[in-house]
Amino acid sequence: MKGNAGQDSGHRAAGPPAIRAIHQATQEKLAKLGIADEFDLMLHLPLRYDDETHLYPIGDVPLNKAVQVEGNITHSEILFRPRRQLVCQVEDGSGSLFMRFLNFYGSQVKAYSKGVRVRLLGEIRSGFFGVEMVHPKCRVIHKHTPLPETLTPVYPSTAGLSSETLRRLIQQALQQIADNNQQREDLETLPEALLKRYRLPGFWDSVFFLHNPPPEASIALLQQRTHPAWQRIKFDELLAQQLSMRLHYQQRRSGSAPVLREKKELTSALLQSLPFQLTRGQQNAFSEIRKDLVTGHPMQRLLQGDVGSGKTVVAALAVLAAVENGYQAALMAPTEILAEQLYQKFSGWLDPLFAPRGLMIAWLSGSQKPKQRENMLASIAQGSASVAIGTHALVQEHVEFHRLGLAIVDEQHRFGVHQRLALRMKGTAARMVPHQLMMSATPIPRTLSMSYYADLDVSVIDELPPGRFPVVTKLIADERREEVTGRIREACRSGKQAYWVCPLIEESEALQLKTALETHGKLAATFPELEIGLVHGRLSAREKSAAMESFRKGETQLLVATTVIEVGVDVPNASLMVIEHAERMGLSQLHQLRGRVGRGGEASICILLYQKPLSPIARERLRIIFEHANGFEIAHEDLKLRGPGEFLGARQSGVPMLRFANLEQDGNLLAAAQTAASEFLREHPYAAQRHLQRWLGKKSEYLRA
Ligand code: ADP
Ligand code: MG
Repeated sequence: MKGNAGQDSGHRAAGPPAIRAIHQATQEKLAKLGIADEFDLMLHLPLRYDDETHLYPIGDVPLNKAVQVEGNITHSEILFRPRRQLVCQVEDGSGSLFMRFLNFYGSQVKAYSKGVRVRLLGEIRSGFFGVEMVHPKCRVIHKHTPLPETLTPVYPSTAGLSSETLRRLIQQALQQIADNNQQREDLETLPEALLKRYRLPGFWDSVFFLHNPPPEASIALLQQRTHPAWQRIKFDELLAQQLSMRLHYQQRRSGSAPVLREKKELTSALLQSLPFQLTRGQQNAFSEIRKDLVTGHPMQRLLQGDVGSGKTVVAALAVLAAVENGYQAALMAPTEILAEQLYQKFSGWLDPLFAPRGLMIAWLSGSQKPKQRENMLASIAQGSASVAIGTHALVQEHVEFHRLGLAIVDEQHRFGVHQRLALRMKGTAARMVPHQLMMSATPIPRTLSMSYYADLDVSVIDELPPGRFPVVTKLIADERREEVTGRIREACRSGKQAYWVCPLIEESEALQLKTALETHGKLAATFPELEIGLVHGRLSAREKSAAMESFRKGETQLLVATTVIEVGVDVPNASLMVIEHAERMGLSQLHQLRGRVGRGGEASICILLYQKPLSPIARERLRIIFEHANGFEIAHEDLKLRGPGEFLGARQSGVPMLRFANLEQDGNLLAAAQTAASEFLREHPYAAQRHLQRWLGKKSEYLRA
């Protein structure tokens, strides 16, 4: 269909070779549906089906069911009461019914006149006029028209392209293949053995069946997409995804990275100096990282752990593993506040170890003075800085590392694919790629990590440090906000600290700022006895860090903040959090914010103020955050609520989404595809490549990134 047909048939090795001429305007509409060639047409699968394979006698129609009848119009009239409508009586000898149209064209009035024979498909109801069909699908029958022999597929469509036209184009494409043995065989990408093992029907048979199911097929199984033909399509899609992830993984693991041996010099010294023992989860995570670092191949590991599980110290240990081998480590964080806080935390832990050895940490941020920044850049380039910490300022072009051995990305889900890749590209000379560790407190449900994250190794810290009290969550309607005032006064009087999080105003940053300033003013008037700090996105880095510092030191007792404090901020003495307009926030955001309290072995409270009326989805979010404390459970619910596309956010831009398989419903198929992928690659590497090409085509380009 496209000008570059030759190229297309090249990248889709197994696709039908001929591309039929289709009108330009139609092509554009097809493109809107993601249909670029005949293979796409074939995979444009029905949303649902109508059963038009037989006729019911009107005298014997079941109520409240979609049925098809045929008869002659015996009366046709436009009525004006109770409202304007076209009403026709249709009779077939066994009985009669009314069809009603509340919206209709003049052409319909003309067409549906007395004596005309019509075939109607619709739900039978008992209505105002008796047995009736409202807005049936109505076709005028001129002479004997045979009934279709298969169920009638209804396709997802777009404006200006009727389901009928789509049906015709799809049937044409199918017919062409049906007529050609070779093409039909070429469509099969899976080896016989695999089909047998997983009891899967053939590809062509499945596709043909889904577009032309016989009348005895179960519409329910088809529409729930559990029919074997559907299973086959979904399996193929999941298999392609697994293959691409697997190849991606193998490709990366075959690269070279610095060998970071276990020297136990600096790492042990840090462990001894910490005021706590690592949890078992932290120990496991670090030992998994350790194993990767000695292989000489680049680590690609995702460290997952709920908010407050202590990922930072694991990162510090990994950093030291690089430094004690003479390599540099970089640590990138998504916000200035978080980067600065990491810098302080690392300085506290590492300076005592670094100072006697002449090592130093560099700090890089977008708002630094040029002179200071130049010094930092020089020390990173010359290697006098062993560790560089900063925001995405770290991945800018002019940042050059002397010997980067490890790149760490904190709160990785906040970054786009390209920023994460860019940090890895800051690698050392001699074709060495640094090891990469990504950290995230947004836990990824199992099905997602098996699919979209299958190209990464994952370590999970599955416990919180001991002595933490779970945070008590309270939902309070905005009209009862005075109750909150008492709690704040009480908490601050007894030496604790509190956050007050201002509402998220997505449409306008200026308005968000205004709200923060107003809130600060009001709270200052309410609590004249308290020192109240303020942080928001418009403050300079210096002002932000000064505000955070006073709060950390306890000089301010109440901190009014926008969602800039969402990630990573760690002030253990803060044990009360109030979130205004909680109904506007997403689940992971609420969970992250709530995770700022409950860090100091103190019973903590998170108050979610909400404004009525709540939309159904907001109500659902508040219920979930109220009922669940565990980040994995929240993420799982969030995935159900939003679907994988939105859940994955930034990662999405680099990964083709699943069209057919549904991770909630198809967990078993996913597991099968995962096993099948290894076998397929091992035993039929050529066929595996062909399968991948077929399904991902050009989309697999990202794998080479
Ligand atoms: P997150 O995983 O959310 O990044 P942090 O690394 O910020 O969590 O850790 C949260 C808090 O827990 C910090 O104050 C940290 O020093 C402390 N912490 C980390 N590990 C332990 C541990 N094993 N025992 C006690 N406290 C710990
Ligand atoms: Mg953190």
